[in-house]
Amino acid sequence: MAEIVLKNVNKRWGNFVGVKDFDLTIPDREFLVLLGPSGCGKTTTMRMIAGLEDPTEGEIWIGDRMVNNVDPKDRDISMVFQSYGLYPNMNVYENIRFPLKVRKVPEAEHKERVMRASAMVELDDFLHRKPAALSGGQRQRVALARAIVREPNVFLMDEPLSNLDAKLRVSTRAQIKNLSHELKVTTIYVTHDQIEAMTLADRVVVMEKGIVQQVGTPTDIYDNPANTFVASFIGNPAMNLMEGELKDGVFTGKNVTIPGLTGSNGPVTLGFRAEDASIATSTGQIDAPVYSMELLGDATMVTVKAGGALVAVKADKEYRSEIGAPVSIAVPAEICHLFDVATGQRLT
Ligand code: ATP
Repeated sequence: MAEIVLKNVNKRWGNFVGVKDFDLTIPDREFLVLLGPSGCGKTTTMRMIAGLEDPTEGEIWIGDRMVNNVDPKDRDISMVFQSYGLYPNMNVYENIRFPLKVRKVPEAEHKERVMRASAMVELDDFLHRKPAALSGGQRQRVALARAIVREPNVFLMDEPLSNLDAKLRVSTRAQIKNLSHELKVTTIYVTHDQIEAMTLADRVVVMEKGIVQQVGTPTDIYDNPANTFVASFIGNPAMNLMEGELKDGVFTGKNVTIPGLTGSNGPVTLGFRAEDASIATSTGQIDAPVYSMELLGDATMVTVKAGGALVAVKADKEYRSEIGAPVSIAVPAEICHLFDVATGQRLT
C-alpha cells in the first residue's frame, strides 16, 4: 500500500514561493500527472516527495509513515529522470541490476529480476551493450527497467520523454502506459506536455506559479476547466477565449452574437473548443474573415480573426477557403463556457 498524502505543503526560498498550499491525497496505484508550464513548481513538488528537497511547511506521508525526516533512499521510491543517469562503463544488464546490488538483494534473485524488468521494456536483446551503443529511446528504457527492478511502492518520473524525438515519445509513452497498467504502482509523473498528461493520467494536477489550479481526471479538466488558465493550457488548439458582454442571455463581442446562454448580466469571458464549433451552413454566431487554414489530414483547422481574438474551428477535411474571405461559424450556446473576466474563474 502506498497512498501518498501531501498536507498543506509549501516551499519557499526567501520570499519566493515555489509551491503554495499543496494539499492532495494520491490513492494507492494511482497514476498522477503534475502538469504546468516551466517554473510552475511541479519538479519541486516531486522532489519534496522524493526527499531531495525539504518542504518549508507541511507534511508528506507515504503509506502510513510521515516521511519529512526520512532519507530519500529509505522512502521506497524509484525515480526516472529526463537525463537517464546510466553508468557508461556498465552494460545494460549491469545498469539494470545496479539498484539490487546497492540494496543488497540476494544475488540469487538478480538474474530473474533483471530479466523480468528488461523484458517489460523490450530490452532483452540489448543486455550486453553499453549505453553509448544505444539510441535515446533504448537508454530511456534502460532507465525505466532500472526503476522497475527495485519493485518500489512509488514511481516518480520527471519528464522522462523529453529527450526523445516526436515519434519515439509517442511509442515510449504507450509503453509507460502499458507498464503502469501491469505494475499498478503509485506513480507521479511530471510534464509540461498536456498530451502526455491527458493520455497517461488517472488524474491530472494543473499548476501555475506554484499554485494548484485544478485536480481532476483528464475528462474533467478538458470538459470543465476551472478557470481560463486551465482552459487555455489543455487542448490542442487551446480553448478559444473571447471577452464580451452578457445581457439577458445573449453574449455580444466583436463580430460575435451568441444567444441562449445563462448567467448574470455584465462582462464575461466566453470560451469554446475548436472541435465543438463548426462552419455554419447558413447564418452563424461569429462572422469574420479567415486568418489561416491548416490541413491536419483528418480535418481542416480554420482560424478567423474576430475583433482582436483569433478563433479556431475544426472543419471537415475537404473544407477550403481563401485567406481573408468571410466565413460564418456556428457556436451553439451548449458548447460555451463562461468565465469571470477579472478572476478567470469558471462561472457555469
Ligand atoms: P520546469 O518544467 O522548467 O522544470 P517546474 O514546474 O518543474 O519547471 P520547478 O523546478 O519546480 O518548476 O521550479 C519552480 C520555481 O522555483 C521556479 O521559478 C524556480 O526558478 C524556483 N526554484 C527552484 N529551485 C530553486 C532554488 N533552489 N532556489 C530558488 N528558487 C528555486
